[in-house]
Amino acid sequence: MKYKSTRGKANNYTFEQAVLAGLSPDGGLFIPQSIPKAPSDFLTKWASLSFQELALEVLSLYIDESEIPRQDLQDLVNRSYATFRHKDITPLHQVKDGLYILELFHGPTFAFKDVALQFVGNLFEYFLKRKNAGIENPADRHKITVVGATSGDTGSAAIYGLRNKQDLEVFILFPTGRVSPIQEAQMTTVLDKNVHNVSVGGTFDDCQDILKGLFANKDFMSKYNLGAVNSINWARILAQTVYYFHSYFSLLRSLNITPGSEEAKKIHVTYSVPTGNFGDILAGYYAHQMGLPTSKLLVATNANDILYRFFRNGVCEKIVGDDGGVHETLSPAMDIVVSSNFERLLFYLARDAAVDASVPESEKDTKAGEIVNGWMVDLKQKGRFDTGAQVLAEAKRIFDAGHVSDQETCETIRAYCHPKDAAQAPYVMDPHTAVGVTAAQSVVSKIDSQNVVISLSTAHPAKFSEAVERALKDQEGVNFEQFFKAVLPKEFEGLMTAERRVTVIPRAEEALVIEVIAKELSC
Ligand SMILES: *Cc1c(COP(=O)(O)O)cnc(C)c1O
Repeated sequence: MKYKSTRGKANNYTFEQAVLAGLSPDGGLFIPQSIPKAPSDFLTKWASLSFQELALEVLSLYIDESEIPRQDLQDLVNRSYATFRHKDITPLHQVKDGLYILELFHGPTFAFKDVALQFVGNLFEYFLKRKNAGIENPADRHKITVVGATSGDTGSAAIYGLRNKQDLEVFILFPTGRVSPIQEAQMTTVLDKNVHNVSVGGTFDDCQDILKGLFANKDFMSKYNLGAVNSINWARILAQTVYYFHSYFSLLRSLNITPGSEEAKKIHVTYSVPTGNFGDILAGYYAHQMGLPTSKLLVATNANDILYRFFRNGVCEKIVGDDGGVHETLSPAMDIVVSSNFERLLFYLARDAAVDASVPESEKDTKAGEIVNGWMVDLKQKGRFDTGAQVLAEAKRIFDAGHVSDQETCETIRAYCHPKDAAQAPYVMDPHTAVGVTAAQSVVSKIDSQNVVISLSTAHPAKFSEAVERALKDQEGVNFEQFFKAVLPKEFEGLMTAERRVTVIPRAEEALVIEVIAKELSC
């Protein structure tokens, strides 16, 4: 499989190139040359595979054997998921008739980004090892300096994915005082020599601007061989595709239904996905295009609802405000104005619904790339673009969307923690997960044993304990302290007081960050 760009001007990249480069030279994102179909008998052949075995099957459709031999790929997968605490890696938990929670938070940092970043870390290491085989002199070895900006989850997941890897250095910029205390502790208590936390006096957007500046700085780029692990990295999307298949098989197994059977065909599955940068749900789109039976992919947003509005009218429109247009919500990992991965979906929508039918097959990609480029220019210059009725219709064939307020988020957390139905077991969910569940309840007209919702849980509730506490504490008769002790993972004990390593820079200036990187790498 080779990779091409969403802007239509670059193609024929290898998987390795696509993963290491992050962004395509024409400004687009890498996507596979074509979306592979799962084997025609996958519903029976894959049904009883473990997560790791399934990952091997899915990934090998996108990674040529000549690039990564099958045995090596299996090793990479096995090592990546050996750090997870649950034997199913991404277990499916039934909360009531027809409603299932896909728990993606059993990795080292308790958020779903681990599923991808554990794999990406090993992948980077694998590529470097191969390049460096036989090179003894440290000065001659290929090295990658990963620089990332985070408002929370990406930073800790990247650090845990890359810690202690040879020839890799990782710098994470985060805005001082603006990440949650637990997230900050998770990042800064990692003391491995190759991990460098930089606390930047500014906002998350300032950190991102510095990052963009560094990647545009050709001298700096080549001197340090910068690598990116942000959510547009293709390998992250790919790794996430696996749990859509895995959860479908888990569902049918729990219902005692044979995949591919007539009975199975009667089960309609909607995946509800708490969405920020559109990476998680995009993986669902790939799974769907590969052949996974899905009824709808539901984009669940909080008050930052540009995507929700898109799926209503086909218009992507930034709301501008004093705060840069971002609303601060109880689900901060989804507080995003423009979702970076959405461009990948736009490419497919443009190709399938905006390119004129008379355009020959061989020119469709270029044409779709031009259309996407035009939309992106409009978004930058006018703050909006309109994709038209056909694109909207194509989008709605596969997706639906809902938006959820903070108040509704809290109500949902409460409702599942204290179910009215005595037969239903209490379940504590984090605020992001609650956005997904709430959206499903308001959008899916009937949820029952045939119309199933699999709602993706993107974080452990203890990771966003402030919001969970806020939702639960004015409840009469709840002993919050006691209750929370019961769900708090043992890994969080002592985290707040553990030794930390972090460099603080007082102002958000690129030059100061460059200074820190140069200094840390010279020792
Ligand atoms: C990153 C994140 C999301 C959003 O996922 P995207 O792939 O960016 O859409 C949702 N919830 C949590 C907890 C996250 O960390």
